[in-house]
Amino acid sequence: MKLHFHGAARSVTGSRHLLETREGSVLLDCGLYQGPREEAFKRNRVFGFDVKSVHSVILSHAHIDHSGALPALVKAGWSGPIYATPATADLAALMLLDSAAIQERDVQFVNEREGTAREPLYGSDDAKATAALLKPIPYHQVFEAAPNLKVSFHDAGHMLGSSLVKLETEGKRIVFTGDIGRASLPILKSPELLSGADTILMESTYGNRVHPPEGELAAIINKVAGRQGKILVPAFAVGRTQHLTYRIKRLAGKIPPIPVYVDSPLAADVTEVYRRHPECHEPGTWTQGDPFGFGMLHTVRSPEESKRLNDLKGPAIIIAASGMCEHGRILHHLFHHGSDERNAILFVGYQAEHTLGRRILEHRKDRVQEIRVHGRPMLLRAEVFKMNGLSAHADRPGLEAFVRAHARTLKNAFLVHGEPDAAEDLAKWVKETTAARTMVPGLGQEVAI
Ligand SMILES: [Zn+2]
Repeated sequence: MKLHFHGAARSVTGSRHLLETREGSVLLDCGLYQGPREEAFKRNRVFGFDVKSVHSVILSHAHIDHSGALPALVKAGWSGPIYATPATADLAALMLLDSAAIQERDVQFVNEREGTAREPLYGSDDAKATAALLKPIPYHQVFEAAPNLKVSFHDAGHMLGSSLVKLETEGKRIVFTGDIGRASLPILKSPELLSGADTILMESTYGNRVHPPEGELAAIINKVAGRQGKILVPAFAVGRTQHLTYRIKRLAGKIPPIPVYVDSPLAADVTEVYRRHPECHEPGTWTQGDPFGFGMLHTVRSPEESKRLNDLKGPAIIIAASGMCEHGRILHHLFHHGSDERNAILFVGYQAEHTLGRRILEHRKDRVQEIRVHGRPMLLRAEVFKMNGLSAHADRPGLEAFVRAHARTLKNAFLVHGEPDAAEDLAKWVKETTAARTMVPGLGQEVAI
């Protein structure tokens, strides 16, 4: 059989791998490539394989870099089953609709600026047609994804519904990791590492890094609330927001009872999905009542309610997307509250280069800096904090633990979903530690196994 690497090869975006057996092909993930616009335009429209030849898609989890090109596949004429865990299916339905709205807005912006008449990669109808193809399969239940290809999902502990995918066919046992999570993440169970694979197709995002210890959330809240300030938290609506509100709830008694506003309709919908899937929650999650709600937590859905927060008096925590301050409601909160030196901005996630979030973070020592929000200049005086160690990805020790669990039987290790430095560094260790053929495959490469 063969494995073809069609995305997230020597990069962390657009996860897509095709497994071709004697009796059929399955696509492992169908992620959106996110990068420079022209390249993204091509990479998300051209799949590099015959779309109609694919028997089924197996989706490891709902993050857009793993699921976001599914509607493009459907738009290209594909209509087979998409297997995913029940929580992944629910989250993907929401997130693909949100992604379609972003695709439509983005193309409209480009068309207006450049006088072109481009079509969006896909629209909300394509996202809905994709959602209708999702086939939920609970963890540990074995199903046939193609003739004589037995597949099961196992908890990856990375986001709600995330899975490691075990595939068995032609006497071989393959494990595709999707993204591997961490034992320390709130709400979610620890990753099941499995054992006994002869081939692993594994992520390597933090293949050369050890996560720093988590920052002190209570200390930051006490400091800012003590001077009557507000804390603005740019955060992704899916995962990070729920983990953060859960942590704040658990700090009761150690911080003053200040209101927490989650200003995002998507985050509110996603929180409902979290609530509906207790099979993904680690034991103890419900011991202090509803883990997703508490008296001081307010969900903000309408734009009017969001704008009312501009006049909010007294200390508060406002959590809004986008996580890197590139778009979304966090921008108007920055504009209205960012120039008050009592306030603070708390980053809880990675800030990519060339984003507003990264610029704010890099100048935090200067305290006062001019930034532009929606094209308007403003002086940022708020204090800037960064909490480390909240990543949902396993770091090097976590990835090593996964490899060790399979070392005895391992014959092939393919390291994907990592920048070249991170993937190569991990590959070197895998070669030294196991007898497996170890590769960091390039885009479009195919290997026989
Ligand atoms: Zn992910």
